[in-house]
Amino acid sequence: MVRTRFAPSPTGFLHIGGARTALFAWAYARHYGGTFILRIEDTDRERSTPAATQAILDGMRWLGLDADEGPYYQTQRMDRYREVIAQMLEEGTAYRCWCTREELEAMRAAQEARGLKPRYDGRWRPEPGRTLPEPPTGVDPVVRFRNPLAGATGWNDLVKGPIAFDNAELDDLIIARSDGTPTYNFCVVVDDRDMRITHVLRGDDHVNNTPRQINILRALGAPVPEYGHLPMIHGPDGQKLSKRHGAVSVMQYDDDGYLPEAVVNYLARLGWSHGDEEVFTREQLVQWFDGSHISRSPSRFDFDKLRWLNAHYLKATSDADLAVLVRPRLEAEGVSIAAGNADLALVCGLLKERAQTLKELAAQARMFYTEPAIDDDDRARHLDSAPPALAGALGGFAAKLESSDWTAAAIGAALKATLADHGLKMPQLAVPVRLLVFGVTQTPSVDAMLAAMPRETVLARLRSG
Ligand code: GLU
Repeated sequence: MVRTRFAPSPTGFLHIGGARTALFAWAYARHYGGTFILRIEDTDRERSTPAATQAILDGMRWLGLDADEGPYYQTQRMDRYREVIAQMLEEGTAYRCWCTREELEAMRAAQEARGLKPRYDGRWRPEPGRTLPEPPTGVDPVVRFRNPLAGATGWNDLVKGPIAFDNAELDDLIIARSDGTPTYNFCVVVDDRDMRITHVLRGDDHVNNTPRQINILRALGAPVPEYGHLPMIHGPDGQKLSKRHGAVSVMQYDDDGYLPEAVVNYLARLGWSHGDEEVFTREQLVQWFDGSHISRSPSRFDFDKLRWLNAHYLKATSDADLAVLVRPRLEAEGVSIAAGNADLALVCGLLKERAQTLKELAAQARMFYTEPAIDDDDRARHLDSAPPALAGALGGFAAKLESSDWTAAAIGAALKATLADHGLKMPQLAVPVRLLVFGVTQTPSVDAMLAAMPRETVLARLRSG
């Protein structure tokens, strides 16, 4: 039974890299009918904040990455870590080390002076036939893991293929500090074991931790999960993705008007592929995501592609659903969609072809709910210096609209009849009409636009010209 986890440290918002890791772990579990677990790695009390935890939970919810178990919090598992440390001391797979900071510094200086890589020299490591010094008084010991001295520790990475480290390269890792608190790698190991994780998908900044974690798992007699390390995400300029590149928090994409479906689709393609498929549903992702075809090289964030995908999902969203998403954006700007005003679903339907984000859609929808602010240049060009027939045409059009059916077809017919009456061409009347009613010179089909507005508003604005 597959069990995966996403294990963020709550030191900031859920960023794009973390969201991609979460998505892959989630999709892998879903593909195999397994269990997806959320674990908050909050043992770094100085850097972890409740606000960051909340931001991660919000981001996961927004992306629709539902966990079957958790969130578990490492800070709530301290007793369990202490219990395992005691057990390892008992079994001899860990030992106490009384080195002081000064001793460790001297050790490092001596090694560096001899041109050696600094490492713990094992002076408190128990070995058969070896007598250890008397523990000093007044020093609280740390607990170190008794790492194997010889051989290599390796695994067949799901993404990177076989990887191995010489055990001689791995220090006897501190698993408990002198105040008894467990350290990062150790907590991860205890959790992965207790939560019976079968597949660890995480960023490749953790590759160096993996041999240490595997050795501790083996010392505990625990099964070793499969590991898959995901390459970094770079910005469009090939540098590590950072704030510099704009939105890196998942919730920023929400603010900026992206749909979670688009972001999920986009993130899935960031370092994973299924043939040439670019646009696919969450269900298809789950169906296809079997752990193969994850790229070994870093991927590049491509904002244009995300916008393109978002436009696709925007068009595929029903007008009624778009109205629900756009309404709070307008209201947040103080724009009221009171009853009797244009129907927002209708408005979204008219405008969605021209918007790539909900933010853009909301910005365009404003013109249905606010007084038109006509630009001076536009007024001069399209109204003041218009053919003399325009004034009469606007009046005639308004008169026809008073009794016309309030449909795009009927309004279109009234417009054409007005053109014929006054000897004007379509743009000569349609542009001034747009400007007077909506404050802009370009819109989708003018008859449909007018039909979405209340008749009284259209008449009043046409007559204001
Ligand atoms: N807490 C770690 C991080 O946020 C992830 C640990 C793991 O996945 O093993 O980078």
